[in-house]
Amino acid sequence: MSTAVARRTGVAVRCVNVVQIYTTAGGHDVVALRGVNLDIRAGEQVALLGPSGSGKSTLLSLFGGVLRPSAGKVIVDGHDVSRVSEGELGRMRSGTVASLLQGASRNLLPYAGAVENIEFARRALPTAVRRSLPSAVELLDRLGMRDLAGRPLGTMSGGEKQRIAFAAAVSSGAGLLLADEPTSQLSHDDRDAMLALLHLVNREFGTTVVLVTHDPEVASAMPRSITIRNGRIGSEGRHGFDFGVVDEDGAVHLPDDLADRFPAGTLVQFEQTPD
Ligand code: ADP
Ligand code: MG
Repeated sequence: MSTAVARRTGVAVRCVNVVQIYTTAGGHDVVALRGVNLDIRAGEQVALLGPSGSGKSTLLSLFGGVLRPSAGKVIVDGHDVSRVSEGELGRMRSGTVASLLQGASRNLLPYAGAVENIEFARRALPTAVRRSLPSAVELLDRLGMRDLAGRPLGTMSGGEKQRIAFAAAVSSGAGLLLADEPTSQLSHDDRDAMLALLHLVNREFGTTVVLVTHDPEVASAMPRSITIRNGRIGSEGRHGFDFGVVDEDGAVHLPDDLADRFPAGTLVQFEQTPD
């Protein structure tokens, strides 16, 4: 994994005026994202928060190369998702990005063990990449999950299965991990174990982590959190700064006297005023 870590500098994900529109089976349009501007630096750990239907999963699908934006640009690891070929998108999905989607542990091979599941997750990788990665047992060891290596999935708890799903997701050595509510079905202890794993891959492998969560405690364990409301970035908090995206009808968080200096869609950053 060391070669992959070496290139993890700069911007991991950039969104420029991203709009996402779905057309429903009934033929009408649903605007899921309404002009999102966002930079996530390589090596960051970010929580995406927001009410149900606000666009969080849509954003992850764009980051993962599962969707192309209806308008605007999504750049992942230097690749413009709106322009790259289908082949390049396929390579992103199998190697550049690791996805731990909702219900991921249900998609594991139920009769196999952790090692077989990791090997199965790696099946689409080119042989040369596969050879450069640590073995499944070594990976489990490095993730502190050696004790799970020999056990069939059928004997595991929900939290243990979710940890295997995590190991399978990161087993490609991808630089960007996208996790959609990875702790939502878990007990307190299992949730904390999952958070520890997220921090571990970030620290050990330099993996950029973007996590969707409804749990304020999970969000507060992440160094940066971004709230999405109705397809727009509502607010951001990071290291004593506040961020906001200027809205069509004025500004989010922006003092009145500054509002007319920034066009709609501008990402602004200003120091938090101490209470
Ligand atoms: P969240 O993950 O924050 O709950 P989503 O990104 O799943 O939000 O959804 C954002 C909006 O887009 C919602 O209004 C949702 O109903 C709509 N949406 C999501 N996926 C589709 C789809 N495949 N077809 C039509 N509408 C969709
Ligand atoms: Mg969702």
